[in-house]
Amino acid sequence: MTGTLLIATHNAHKTGEMRAILADHFETITDLTSLPGMTPPEETGTTFAENSAIKALAASRAMPEAFVLADDSGLEVDALGGAPGVYSSRYSGEDATDASNRVKLLAELARPELAGTPRTARFRCVITIAKGGEVLATFDGAVEGHIAGAETGTGGFGYDSLFIPDGHEASFGELPESVKNGMSHRARALEKFREWLARD
Ligand code: IMP
Repeated sequence: MTGTLLIATHNAHKTGEMRAILADHFETITDLTSLPGMTPPEETGTTFAENSAIKALAASRAMPEAFVLADDSGLEVDALGGAPGVYSSRYSGEDATDASNRVKLLAELARPELAGTPRTARFRCVITIAKGGEVLATFDGAVEGHIAGAETGTGGFGYDSLFIPDGHEASFGELPESVKNGMSHRARALEKFREWLARD
Protein backbone atom coordinates (compact mmCIF):
# COMPACT_ATOMS: atom_id res chain seq x y z
CA MET A 1 0.00 0.00 0.00
CA THR A 2 1.31 3.47 -0.83
CA GLY A 3 -0.01 6.97 -0.44
CA THR A 4 -1.09 8.94 2.59
CA LEU A 5 -2.85 7.70 5.69
CA LEU A 6 -4.66 10.38 7.68
CA ILE A 7 -5.32 9.30 11.27
CA ALA A 8 -8.43 11.18 12.39
CA THR A 9 -7.20 12.17 15.84
CA HIS A 10 -5.49 15.02 17.68
CA ASN A 11 -4.22 12.57 20.30
CA ALA A 12 -0.43 12.35 19.84
CA HIS A 13 -0.31 9.10 21.88
CA LYS A 14 -2.75 7.41 19.50
CA THR A 15 -0.90 8.71 16.43
CA GLY A 16 2.37 7.40 17.86
CA GLU A 17 0.93 3.96 18.65
CA MET A 18 -0.64 3.63 15.21
CA ARG A 19 2.37 5.02 13.33
CA ALA A 20 4.57 2.37 14.98
CA ILE A 21 2.25 -0.39 13.80
CA LEU A 22 1.45 0.91 10.28
CA ALA A 23 4.72 2.58 9.24
CA ASP A 24 5.53 -0.10 6.63
CA HIS A 25 2.25 0.30 4.80
CA PHE A 26 2.09 3.99 3.82
CA GLU A 27 4.48 6.59 2.38
CA THR A 28 3.15 9.27 4.70
CA ILE A 29 1.22 9.00 7.94
CA THR A 30 -0.29 12.17 9.33
CA ASP A 31 -3.07 13.19 11.73
CA LEU A 32 -5.53 16.03 12.22
CA THR A 33 -2.75 18.42 13.28
CA SER A 34 -2.15 18.70 9.51
CA LEU A 35 -5.73 20.00 9.03
CA PRO A 36 -5.83 22.89 11.52
CA GLY A 37 -8.93 24.41 9.89
CA MET A 38 -11.08 21.32 10.35
CA THR A 39 -13.63 21.37 13.15
CA PRO A 40 -13.90 17.87 14.61
CA PRO A 41 -17.44 16.47 14.32
CA GLU A 42 -19.58 15.90 17.39
CA GLU A 43 -19.46 12.28 18.50
CA THR A 44 -23.21 11.78 18.65
CA GLY A 45 -23.20 7.99 18.22
CA THR A 46 -24.12 5.57 20.97
CA THR A 47 -21.65 2.87 19.89
CA PHE A 48 -17.92 2.83 19.16
CA ALA A 49 -18.73 1.83 15.55
CA GLU A 50 -21.04 4.81 14.99
CA ASN A 51 -18.58 7.30 16.45
CA SER A 52 -15.61 5.94 14.52
CA ALA A 53 -17.62 6.20 11.27
CA ILE A 54 -18.64 9.79 12.09
CA LYS A 55 -14.98 10.73 12.63
CA ALA A 56 -13.72 8.85 9.56
CA LEU A 57 -16.27 10.39 7.19
CA ALA A 58 -15.70 13.95 8.46
CA ALA A 59 -11.94 13.64 7.98
CA SER A 60 -12.36 11.91 4.61
CA ARG A 61 -14.44 14.82 3.31
CA ALA A 62 -11.63 17.17 4.36
CA MET A 63 -8.88 15.04 2.68
CA PRO A 64 -10.65 12.86 0.08
CA GLU A 65 -7.48 11.64 -1.65
CA ALA A 66 -6.07 10.03 1.51
CA PHE A 67 -6.95 6.81 3.26
CA VAL A 68 -8.52 7.88 6.53
CA LEU A 69 -8.40 5.82 9.69
CA ALA A 70 -10.60 6.81 12.62
CA ASP A 71 -10.81 4.91 15.86
CA ASP A 72 -13.27 5.15 18.66
CA SER A 73 -12.31 3.46 21.83
CA GLY A 74 -13.03 3.32 25.49
CA LEU A 75 -13.13 1.36 28.68
CA GLU A 76 -16.00 -0.95 29.70
CA VAL A 77 -16.19 -1.84 33.39
CA ASP A 78 -18.51 -4.75 34.13
CA ALA A 79 -19.42 -3.63 37.68
CA LEU A 80 -20.58 -0.30 36.20
CA GLY A 81 -22.77 -1.88 33.53
CA GLY A 82 -20.21 -1.18 30.79
CA ALA A 83 -19.55 2.45 31.76
CA PRO A 84 -17.76 4.65 30.89
CA GLY A 85 -17.95 3.05 27.40
CA VAL A 86 -18.45 5.56 24.59
CA TYR A 87 -18.33 8.32 27.21
CA SER A 88 -14.80 7.37 28.35
CA SER A 89 -13.20 10.69 27.41
CA ARG A 90 -16.04 12.74 28.97
CA TYR A 91 -16.76 10.53 32.00
CA SER A 92 -16.24 13.23 34.63
CA GLY A 93 -18.11 15.95 32.73
CA GLU A 94 -17.66 18.67 30.11
CA ASP A 95 -14.23 19.77 31.34
CA ALA A 96 -13.02 16.23 31.94
CA THR A 97 -9.32 15.45 31.87
CA ASP A 98 -7.70 12.01 31.86
CA ALA A 99 -6.83 12.59 35.52
CA SER A 100 -10.36 13.64 36.56
CA ASN A 101 -11.81 10.64 34.70
CA ARG A 102 -9.54 8.27 36.62
CA VAL A 103 -10.55 9.87 39.93
CA LYS A 104 -14.23 9.46 39.01
CA LEU A 105 -13.72 5.81 38.01
CA LEU A 106 -12.07 4.93 41.33
CA ALA A 107 -14.80 6.81 43.21
CA GLU A 108 -17.58 4.93 41.37
CA LEU A 109 -15.94 1.57 42.08
CA ALA A 110 -15.52 2.51 45.75
CA ARG A 111 -19.32 2.75 46.24
CA PRO A 112 -20.24 0.52 49.19
CA GLU A 113 -22.78 -1.48 47.17
CA LEU A 114 -19.97 -2.59 44.84
CA ALA A 115 -17.79 -3.95 47.65
CA GLY A 116 -16.54 -7.40 46.65
CA THR A 117 -17.74 -7.05 43.04
CA PRO A 118 -15.13 -8.18 40.48
CA ARG A 119 -13.38 -5.24 38.85
CA THR A 120 -13.18 -6.89 35.42
CA ALA A 121 -12.98 -4.53 32.46
CA ARG A 122 -11.86 -4.26 28.87
CA PHE A 123 -10.62 -1.65 26.48
CA ARG A 124 -12.50 -1.83 23.22
CA CYS A 125 -11.67 -0.19 19.90
CA VAL A 126 -13.45 0.08 16.56
CA ILE A 127 -11.56 1.36 13.52
CA THR A 128 -13.26 2.72 10.42
CA ILE A 129 -11.35 3.10 7.15
CA ALA A 130 -12.69 5.65 4.66
CA LYS A 131 -11.64 7.17 1.36
CA GLY A 132 -13.36 9.73 -0.87
CA GLY A 133 -16.07 10.28 1.73
CA GLU A 134 -17.09 6.61 1.87
CA VAL A 135 -16.57 3.86 4.45
CA LEU A 136 -14.36 1.05 3.06
CA ALA A 137 -14.07 -1.24 6.08
CA THR A 138 -14.50 -1.59 9.86
CA PHE A 139 -12.35 -3.57 12.32
CA ASP A 140 -12.62 -4.15 16.07
CA GLY A 141 -10.35 -5.24 18.92
CA ALA A 142 -10.50 -5.69 22.68
CA VAL A 143 -8.14 -6.41 25.58
CA GLU A 144 -9.46 -7.92 28.82
CA GLY A 145 -8.21 -7.00 32.27
CA HIS A 146 -9.23 -5.41 35.55
CA ILE A 147 -9.22 -2.05 37.30
CA ALA A 148 -6.51 -1.58 39.94
CA GLY A 149 -7.27 -0.14 43.38
CA ALA A 150 -5.02 2.85 42.73
CA GLU A 151 -3.06 4.41 39.90
CA THR A 152 0.34 2.95 39.10
CA GLY A 153 2.86 4.14 36.51
CA THR A 154 3.03 7.26 34.42
CA GLY A 155 3.15 5.83 30.89
CA GLY A 156 0.39 5.93 28.31
CA PHE A 157 -2.75 8.06 28.65
CA GLY A 158 -6.39 7.92 29.66
CA TYR A 159 -7.12 5.02 32.00
CA ASP A 160 -3.78 3.24 31.38
CA SER A 161 -2.49 3.67 34.93
CA LEU A 162 -5.62 1.92 36.28
CA PHE A 163 -5.89 -0.96 33.80
CA ILE A 164 -4.10 -4.24 34.46
CA PRO A 165 -4.33 -6.50 31.40
CA ASP A 166 -4.95 -10.24 31.91
CA GLY A 167 -1.67 -12.15 32.20
CA HIS A 168 0.16 -9.22 33.83
CA GLU A 169 0.46 -7.74 37.31
CA ALA A 170 1.39 -4.24 36.17
CA SER A 171 -0.85 -1.60 34.63
CA PHE A 172 -0.57 -0.27 31.09
CA GLY A 173 0.90 2.83 32.77
CA GLU A 174 3.81 0.74 34.07
CA LEU A 175 4.31 -1.81 31.29
CA PRO A 176 6.73 -0.86 28.50
CA GLU A 177 5.02 0.84 25.56
CA SER A 178 6.10 -2.07 23.34
CA VAL A 179 4.12 -4.51 25.53
CA LYS A 180 0.97 -2.38 25.38
CA ASN A 181 1.37 -1.86 21.62
CA GLY A 182 1.60 -5.63 21.15
CA MET A 183 -1.64 -6.49 22.93
CA SER A 184 -3.86 -3.41 23.10
CA HIS A 185 -7.42 -3.14 21.78
CA ARG A 186 -6.10 -0.73 19.16
CA ALA A 187 -3.25 -3.08 18.20
CA ARG A 188 -5.72 -5.94 17.72
CA ALA A 189 -8.04 -3.86 15.53
CA LEU A 190 -5.01 -2.53 13.62
CA GLU A 191 -3.77 -6.08 13.06
CA LYS A 192 -7.06 -6.84 11.30
CA PHE A 193 -6.54 -3.68 9.21
CA ARG A 194 -3.01 -4.87 8.32
CA GLU A 195 -4.38 -8.25 7.23
CA TRP A 196 -6.93 -6.40 5.09
CA LEU A 197 -4.16 -4.27 3.52
CA ALA A 198 -2.17 -7.42 2.72
CA ARG A 199 -5.16 -9.30 1.22
CA ASP A 200 -4.82 -10.72 -2.34
P1 IMP B 1 -11.85 8.48 21.79
O1 IMP B 1 -10.63 9.30 21.58
O2 IMP B 1 -13.12 9.15 21.46
O3 IMP B 1 -11.72 7.12 21.16
O4 IMP B 1 -11.96 8.30 23.37
C1 IMP B 1 -11.20 7.36 23.94
C2 IMP B 1 -11.15 7.54 25.44
O5 IMP B 1 -11.13 6.23 25.99
C3 IMP B 1 -9.84 8.21 25.85
O6 IMP B 1 -10.02 9.56 26.12
C4 IMP B 1 -9.46 7.43 27.09
O7 IMP B 1 -10.12 7.98 28.19
C5 IMP B 1 -10.03 6.05 26.84
N1 IMP B 1 -9.03 5.19 26.15
C6 IMP B 1 -9.10 4.70 24.88
N2 IMP B 1 -8.01 3.97 24.58
C7 IMP B 1 -7.24 4.00 25.69
C8 IMP B 1 -5.97 3.42 25.97
O8 IMP B 1 -5.29 2.76 25.17
N3 IMP B 1 -5.51 3.67 27.21
C9 IMP B 1 -6.18 4.40 28.13
N4 IMP B 1 -7.35 4.97 27.90
C10 IMP B 1 -7.90 4.76 26.68
